[in-house]
Amino acid sequence: MTIGEVPSEMAMSPELLMGTLENLSNVPKQIKATINENANSLANDLQMVKNDVKKMLEEDRSKSAILVSKQNELHTCGKQERAKMLAGGYTKAKQIQETITTTISALSMVTFALQLVSRFDPRDFVGIVSAIVFGILVADFMSGVVHWTADTWGSVRLPVIGKAFIRPFREHHVDPTAMTRHDFLETNGDNFLLVLPFAVCFVYKGFTHDALTLAETYRWHLFVFALGIFVLLTNQIHKWSHTYFGLPKWVEFLQKYHIILPRKHHRIHHVAPHETYFCITTGWCNYPLERIGFFQKLEWVIEKLTGVPPRVDDFKWAGKKMH
Ligand SMILES: [Zn+2]
Ligand SMILES: [Zn+2]
Repeated sequence: MTIGEVPSEMAMSPELLMGTLENLSNVPKQIKATINENANSLANDLQMVKNDVKKMLEEDRSKSAILVSKQNELHTCGKQERAKMLAGGYTKAKQIQETITTTISALSMVTFALQLVSRFDPRDFVGIVSAIVFGILVADFMSGVVHWTADTWGSVRLPVIGKAFIRPFREHHVDPTAMTRHDFLETNGDNFLLVLPFAVCFVYKGFTHDALTLAETYRWHLFVFALGIFVLLTNQIHKWSHTYFGLPKWVEFLQKYHIILPRKHHRIHHVAPHETYFCITTGWCNYPLERIGFFQKLEWVIEKLTGVPPRVDDFKWAGKKMH
């Protein structure tokens, strides 16, 4: 074979060559068709994903709309549903915290009591009785102020205090007997926590101050102790005032002689719109406070200053509209 000669096996007829060239010219068209096909299928997939996302967003939007309308129009929910929403706020973490703080607080108050007993002097009878009575009166007044504040202002939706502080008060108006089903911790945990720092502080003073200072401040310590004990007992006493069966005889005796909050006395507060008789420890302060219109005057001043009418949130949870 010489140079320039085409090998016989590679030799091609002109017709075959033309056919091959025609086939080759079709390749870009095929590639284009394949690309078009893939592009169409991708576009379809994209449209499907878009539809899915749109559907999810719509579902989400309708879910939050339901939630908002539930919160805004609580009066349209059934009473049981509202009570359930409020009762659901007591969490396991709060239960653990209350177990620890209640134990420390109780131990501190027992130590405080033993210190006072060890320094007791019966010759100062009038001073001792006055300190105890004054302590109980202040505890009762404080229970009224705290109860009035939570009943009248604020909302369950407020951060931190809404769930921890205001929720139990709303629950109590919607379902007054719910608290009778609460155990000791859920009833008294918050108040034991409140008393804890004061109890620890006075026990420390009892151990570190000299005898003369302790004798001079005995009435003050006794006042703080009586105040602390009645603050600790406030929710328990309130719970007893809603309990109609199985109360111990001594509790019924204390209620009957109005040493602690009697059932009949507290029932006055539970008549809607819950705007009177807020004191719930002994109820002693309710008479003078009602006589001078103490809370009504405070509400008038606050509404004038802030423009917020009293009991807006409580009305919602109670299933009533403001007039
Ligand atoms: Zn109330
Ligand atoms: Zn009550």
